[in-house]
Amino acid sequence: MTDYIKFLGTAGARFAVAMQTRASGGIWLCLSDTNIHIDPGPGALVKAISSKPKLDPQELDGIILSHKHLDHSGDVNVLIEAMTDSGRKKRGAFFCPKDCLSDDPIIFRYLRAYPERIEILKEGKPSRIKDVEITPFEHIHSDVQTYGMRFAAGKTSLSYIADTRFFPQISSLYKTEVIIICLLLDKAREGVDHLCIEDTKRLIAEISPKLAILTHFGMTILKRKPETLAKEISSLTGIKTIAARDGMKIEI
Ligand SMILES: [Zn+2]
Ligand SMILES: [Zn+2]
Repeated sequence: MTDYIKFLGTAGARFAVAMQTRASGGIWLCLSDTNIHIDPGPGALVKAISSKPKLDPQELDGIILSHKHLDHSGDVNVLIEAMTDSGRKKRGAFFCPKDCLSDDPIIFRYLRAYPERIEILKEGKPSRIKDVEITPFEHIHSDVQTYGMRFAAGKTSLSYIADTRFFPQISSLYKTEVIIICLLLDKAREGVDHLCIEDTKRLIAEISPKLAILTHFGMTILKRKPETLAKEISSLTGIKTIAARDGMKIEI
C-alpha cells in the first residue's frame, strides 16, 4: 500500500479550534502498512469515520500525542476506546509525554489497560510501532512536556515538527525527506512558544526536504491565506511547500 498522510484537521490553538474555523482532528499517517493517529484533537473520531474512504480506528496500530494541550488531545480517550473495540481487544500502542499520565492527567485511568502498550516519549530514544521507527525530540512549548518526532519506515523519512518555540537545533534534528510543520503564528510574539512564518522559512531552507507541509494554523495565519504563504515559501526556498487543508490526503 502507498504511504500517505491524511489531515483530519488543520486548525491550531484556541480560537481556530474553538470556532472550528478549520477542523482539529490531527493527522492520520500510514507508513509501511502501519496506521498511526497523531494528535487527535477535537473531532478526530468523527473526521476519521466520515472520511472517504472511512478510516477505521480499529485499524490503528498506534496513537501518538505530542503534548497534552486540547487542540492535540481532545479526542484521545475516545480514540483509545475506538482502537481497542471499547477495551474488548487489547491492541495498539499509545505514546505520549509523561505529564499526560501524571500531574493533571488527560488519559482516563480505566483506559490505560486497553492498549497493548503505553510508552513515554523520551528525548532521542527511538521506539517502534510495527515497522515504523519513531524518534522523539523535546520542544520548548509553554509549561507542558512537548515532543516533535521523526518517523522512518523503509525508504520513507518524515518529521512532525509539533508546537514549539524556535530553537537553532530544530533543523538538524529533523533532516528528513518530508516535514510537517505546525505553523501557528504570523509573527514571533514575546512569551508565545510557537513557530512563526520567518521561523518556518528558515527551517525549510535549512532542512531542505523534498516536501514541506504546513498545518496547525492559528487565526493570524488563516487571515494571511496558508496557500498564498506556501507559494511564497516555495518560490523563496525552491522547495515544494504546500498548505494542508482539512481532508487533504498526500501520498508520499
Ligand atoms: Zn497546538
Ligand atoms: Zn500546544
